[in-house]
Amino acid sequence: METPKFYKLIRSKRKTIALGITADATLVVRAPHNTSLSYIERLLSKKMGWIQRTVARVMSRPRTPPREFVDGESFLYLGKTHKMRIDKNASKPIAFKSGFILNTKDKTRVRNLIINWYKAEAKRKISERVEWCARRYGISFKSIKITSAEKRWGSCGTSGNLNFSWRLIMAPTSVIDYVIIHELAHLEHKNHSKAFWNSVKVMYSSYEKAKNWLKRNEGTLTI
Ligand SMILES: [Zn+2]
Repeated sequence: METPKFYKLIRSKRKTIALGITADATLVVRAPHNTSLSYIERLLSKKMGWIQRTVARVMSRPRTPPREFVDGESFLYLGKTHKMRIDKNASKPIAFKSGFILNTKDKTRVRNLIINWYKAEAKRKISERVEWCARRYGISFKSIKITSAEKRWGSCGTSGNLNFSWRLIMAPTSVIDYVIIHELAHLEHKNHSKAFWNSVKVMYSSYEKAKNWLKRNEGTLTI
């Protein structure tokens, strides 16, 4: 049976208790300041069925195994895996022709070269898609910034600044488009209200598929 790794108790001014399971299968309990520990423990044993089902679901999600940065290893780009080859005679430090070709064996350097390549590709590809979507739906934005956020795929700052994580470049284009549309819709609706989701749906009718893909596969968008 799947049990959570441990549980984390967060007390606040809230009025009710809420249970949640994080992406690394940790049980998080949010409770009001005055709720007793024995009450929380009783609630947890009552909810054990739900907790175990949710932990099992989170643990069955795909994950990238720890990296070694060696010849023959695969890396994701736009949702597809591509082999990485090390060729000491390659003229450029990093090149991409259906697969990655790097001219160094130094693991730290390999990692940095791939990350920098991802960042540059993210900037190019995401900017291109944002501009296309914004033009198509008549939305204006101010700027696009590429961040190193690990789970915050996109965010929308005040006055039309859009931020996207470079890690998104590992995801399929349909998923990148969903995150872009999500942030463009936030330019009009600052919350996740019904009107917000309606506006996402108008721009991207099958967004739910991409949204679910991201939730299930976010553990693969790592290096
Ligand atoms: Zn949002």
